[in-house]
Amino acid sequence: MAELNVENGKKLNEITSYRIRVLLVDDQPIIAEAVRRALAEEDIDFHYCQDPTNAVKMATELLPTIILQDLVMPEIDGLTMVKFYRASPVLLHVPIIVLSTKEEPEIKSKAFEFGANDYIVKLPDKMELVARIRYHSQSYINQKQRDEAFDALVKSQKELAAANAILQKLSSLDGLTGIPNRRRFDEVLKAEWQRSIRHATSISLIMLDIDFFKLFNDTYGHQGGDDCLKRVAKTLDESVSRETDMVARYGGEEFAAILPETGVKGALVVAEEMRANIEKQNISHESSKVADYVTISVGVATWVPERYSKSDELIALADQALYAAKEIGRNRVISAGVKLE
Ligand code: GH3
Ligand code: MG
Ligand code: MG
Repeated sequence: MAELNVENGKKLNEITSYRIRVLLVDDQPIIAEAVRRALAEEDIDFHYCQDPTNAVKMATELLPTIILQDLVMPEIDGLTMVKFYRASPVLLHVPIIVLSTKEEPEIKSKAFEFGANDYIVKLPDKMELVARIRYHSQSYINQKQRDEAFDALVKSQKELAAANAILQKLSSLDGLTGIPNRRRFDEVLKAEWQRSIRHATSISLIMLDIDFFKLFNDTYGHQGGDDCLKRVAKTLDESVSRETDMVARYGGEEFAAILPETGVKGALVVAEEMRANIEKQNISHESSKVADYVTISVGVATWVPERYSKSDELIALADQALYAAKEIGRNRVISAGVKLE
């Protein structure tokens, strides 16, 4: 039987906390030194890359929360670098501040067009630099945390849906025999009954009961009785073939089968097959009064239900037929006939 194993995803209170991490890409060490000093007393990690050809690799490894990108460098210009960062899936959303030596509206507009988030003339005073670094980094961190929270939520919803599906299945099955239980039987009968009304098709019900099962328990013990019930359930389940047929444990040593779109003849064939298959199992029952193996008595009822009719009436008919089978001598199939309105 399916194991109920719910593994929780990342909990919402386990969302990663991030420190602000700056990567400065600038060919002039003096600028790096000035930025390092400006950030020295802040809770901000500072990293420096002097060689722009190495910047994308370094940023990919470091995963900064902000990149400060110098505009004019010997090998590659800063705008091209912005393009490179934006082309990388891991750096795509990392904020970029372009550092320029002067206000140049055309270059400034290009920088934004290429995906920069800010443009500053270097170097602004400490307070402004720190404020901008904090502002951009924090909104990036917030977005990352929202994404993580969303992923965690989606994951836990998926796990919940899977757990619910397992629970749903477990709550429909009989614990001893593993076949559908009475609750499932009631649901399916109700649904099939309505379907029969809509399509004006016949529906058959088989009710059956193990003969002298009390004596079986008395002879072989309760555990022996349980084993017998399992074998009977399996045999009955294997006796129906259509996808829509259903065998359920109705209660105790009573079983029931729903056969949608099945007339009297078909239902009698299935019922007789069930009786014969149980006989073939040849389960010893030395205290039975009708055979020296386990037998069943079977009642069959068929109906083409009309509107507003109740499926309970079909159950009552099949029950009466089962009672008659017991009365007449057990180990037999009795049909209640057809009720056609
Ligand atoms: P009949 O031929 O008239 O049906 O006689 P019977 O002895 O089968 O009928 P009765 O209803 O008197 O007894 C049914 C027995 O089934 C009594 C009960 O202890 C036993 N039984 C019901 N459920 C279980 C179960 O889950 N396990 C076991 N081992 N026995 C069960
Ligand atoms: Mg009984
Ligand atoms: Mg019985």
